[in-house]
Amino acid sequence: MIGIFGGTFDPVHYGHLRSALEVSETVGLSEVRFIPCHRPPHRGTPRATARQRLEMLKTALKNAPASFQIDTREMERPGPSFMVDTLRSLRDDLGQRPMALIVGSDAFRGFETWHQWRDLFDLAHILIMQRPGESSDWPQALAAVFKEREAPGIPSLSEHPSGLITTINVTPLAISASQIRDRLAADRSARFLTPDSVIKHIENWRLYGAKESQKTSAD
Ligand code: ATP
Repeated sequence: MIGIFGGTFDPVHYGHLRSALEVSETVGLSEVRFIPCHRPPHRGTPRATARQRLEMLKTALKNAPASFQIDTREMERPGPSFMVDTLRSLRDDLGQRPMALIVGSDAFRGFETWHQWRDLFDLAHILIMQRPGESSDWPQALAAVFKEREAPGIPSLSEHPSGLITTINVTPLAISASQIRDRLAADRSARFLTPDSVIKHIENWRLYGAKESQKTSAD
C-alpha cells in the first residue's frame, strides 16, 4: 500500500519525518509519497516559494528510507492544489492498488472545508495521526463518516483500494512549521526541530527572518 503525505512543508520538520516513518512501519507501507502543495487552498501564501519548499524537502529526505519519495505533481498543476484532484490523478496512475492519505488530526478536523471532501474517501483510505494538544472529538459530520468507515483493523486496509479510516498512534511531537518560523523570526534556533541541512537552506536564503549562520567551530 502506498501512503500519500501532502503538506505545505514550510519548512519540513521532524514532526513530519518521524510520524511518516512510524505510520509507514505500523501500516507496512511500500512507499510514502511526500507531495508538497503548490498553492494551499485553505491558508495564506506560504512564506517560502514552492521551489524552496521542494529543495528543503529534498535535502531532508536525502538520508531517509528509500521508500520515502517526493512527487511534484501539485507543483506542476496550475491553480489551487486541491487534494481531491491529486488523489484522482494518483488513482489514474495506480489503478486499484490500495492508497492511503496520511493526515494529522488538525488537518482531518478541517476536512469538511476541503474541496469535494466526501469524494476523498472513495479515492483513498485516511490514516489520522494524533497531534499533541488536538482533541479527537471530530465535528458531527466527520464523526459520522469516521464511525461508518472505521477500519476493523490494519490488515483490512490492504484488502481494499480505499474507503476506510483509522487513527495511527505516533510519538507525539509538538513540532510545527509555524513554531519554527516564529522561533527564527524571534532570532531563536530551530536546531533539532528539523534536519541541519534544512536549517542550512533557511539560513542561506534568509527565510523566515533567519540570519546567516555564524560559524562557531574552528574549521
Ligand atoms: P503549519 O504550522 O505552518 O500549519 P505544519 O507543521 O502543520 O505547518 P504542514 O506542512 O501544514 O505542517 O503539515 C502537513 C501534514 O503533516 C498535515 O497533515 C499535518 O497535520 C501533519 N503534521 C505536521 N506536523 C506534525 C506533527 N508534529 N505530528 C504529526 N503530524 C504532523
